[in-house]
Amino acid sequence: MSPSPPPPPDLVRQTAAWVAGARRILCITGAGVSAESGLPTYRGVGGIYDDVETDDDMPIEEALSGPVFREQPEVTWKYLLQIEQACRGAVPNLAHAILARWSAEAWPPAELWVLTQNVDGLHSAAGSRHLIEIHGDLHRLRCTQCDWRARVDDYRRLPALPHCQDCGALLRPEVVLFEEMLPPAATQEFATQLHRGFDLIFSIGTSSQFPYIVQPVLVAKQQGQPTVEINPHETVISSLVDVRIPCSAGATLEAIDSALVASR
Ligand code: NAD
Ligand code: ZN
Repeated sequence: MSPSPPPPPDLVRQTAAWVAGARRILCITGAGVSAESGLPTYRGVGGIYDDVETDDDMPIEEALSGPVFREQPEVTWKYLLQIEQACRGAVPNLAHAILARWSAEAWPPAELWVLTQNVDGLHSAAGSRHLIEIHGDLHRLRCTQCDWRARVDDYRRLPALPHCQDCGALLRPEVVLFEEMLPPAATQEFATQLHRGFDLIFSIGTSSQFPYIVQPVLVAKQQGQPTVEINPHETVISSLVDVRIPCSAGATLEAIDSALVASR
């Protein structure tokens, strides 16, 4: 991947001023935030699924769907194992670290929430406090029949088709497969926080494919709150946001963080 250009200083200053004045900030994140930890994105820069057909003669979205998991779990597990292997050993990068620090320190003086679509657990590993993992986390496994649950560091010891040690039924990760409902607890938390309102919204490293990822940006726009996109590529929300920074997540957040520190 070619290095992204440095973030334009005027856009960085404007964004830092908004961060400094905000009471509640929402950062919507996607696979691009983990790209600098060496994880492949799905689409866009470094996308693994830009050529969508799998070895199993179906698009990746179908292989990773609820209906295929019910009928051919070995197919879904094959791609889950590939995705986990791509994350294995990855550690949080600068972008995860800065968002975690902003959520933990009194500066900026705002409550910062991260809504992530990533299933790699890296925001949590970095220590983000107010975190909604709307698509779950690959490292949490559960039985499809009984209450058995476990957290695993990786899938190294799992067979190709893992079964429950208590009841023998199939296991699955606590992630949202295509065509499945979002997890109720995460959805409820997100609705509660949206209802409380945000006065600044970031969209970072996501191609914004899902309506619930785009909607907070649309609402902020209607209500006159500032919106910022950080992504080297244009997306469906690029023409909607107030500030679009066409650069990588880590370098841009670092520049905003430095501008914040300088303005203290
Ligand atoms: P996506 O692959 O569709 O889009 C990634 C976006 O990140 C692209 O727009 C790309 O231009 C941008 N990007 C690439 N490098 C970047 C960088 N250094 N800084 C900032 N932006 C960068 O990913 P998405 O929007 O998160 O797609 C949603 C789906 O992909 C979700 O279902 C999610 O669970 C899944 N996914 C998760 C992971 C992960 O957990 N790390 C990885 C791949 C896909
Ligand atoms: Zn069981």
